[in-house]
Order: sequence, then structure tokens, then C-alpha cells
Amino acid sequence: MLGGLERVRGESVLFDGFPRHYEQIEVFFHLLQGHQLEFCAVLVLTLDFETAVQRLAGRRLCPECGALYNLYTNPPQSAGKCDECEHELIQRKDDWQEIVRHRFGTYQLETVPVIDFFKREYPQLCWEESAAAPMHEIGNRVRKRLEQIMCQSANAQRKGQCEGNAGDHF
Ligand SMILES: [Zn+2]
Repeated sequence: MLGGLERVRGESVLFDGFPRHYEQIEVFFHLLQGHQLEFCAVLVLTLDFETAVQRLAGRRLCPECGALYNLYTNPPQSAGKCDECEHELIQRKDDWQEIVRHRFGTYQLETVPVIDFFKREYPQLCWEESAAAPMHEIGNRVRKRLEQIMCQSANAQRKGQCEGNAGDHF
């Protein structure tokens, strides 16, 4: 990660899933300071437990070519068949209910305190987005919002250079 940060010095950096533990918050601010990065926003993607379980349960795999599908977010063109090779899709036998329960427990224990910290200390920078919408919709919303934020931040430094982009609504 440090190598990646060096390369983008002076530009925008997105930390994906970091800090994830409370102890990493200090490391995070240290990195910002060390690389003269301005702290602009915290994005929290939310998904309720039931939806997460349902999504994992909807995963399907083509045993022939390895293509992955999801009945809820990325279904195959014709039910139960691979788009690429028309082989019948299977559900992997991994114990998804256990996996999601375990991940959810870890999230509650380790990551929720990090989110609470940022909401408490930087409420104006925090922004929550539901991950229940289709992937491309979330992607569009997040991209627009990030462009806005980066523009505002750039505007604060050198006034009025990108007002055209800052007017986007969603
Ligand atoms: Zn296939």
C-alpha cells in the first residue's frame, strides 16, 4: 500500500476497507500526514444481514468454464445455464451461512467501532450509501459523489476552476 501511495502523491487516494480495525485509525492519519493528503470523505456501504445472506446463497458457478453468477445481482441469461458455455450451473458447497455469520460478527466487533469513531469526530465527512441497490447503480452514485467531493476540495484550494462538474445532482 505504501508503494501505491508514493505513486499518487499530490492526487486523490481512495482507501478501500481501511482502516478496518480501531488500531489502524492512527496508522491512517499518519499516512495522510506523511503524504500531505487532505482527508475529504468517509464512505460507508451498508447492507443488512438478511440481504447479505441472501446474496451469498444466490451464488452460482459454472463447473465447466468457471464463470460466476448471482441469482440476485448477476443472473445468467437463461435460468440455471452458463451464458458462456451453456453448462448447467451449480451451487458451491461452501458453508455460506457460517461464513456470513462469521464475517458479520467480525464486522460488528472490529469495524463498527471505526465507523462510530469517524461519525463522532468527522460527522460532516461521513456519508452512508446502501449497497442493496444493483452494483452499477451504486457505482454511479459513488462516482458522482466522489467527483463532487474532489471538486469541492480542489475549489477550496484554487477557487472556481471546476464549477461545471460540481453542479451534478443525483
Ligand atoms: Zn460455463
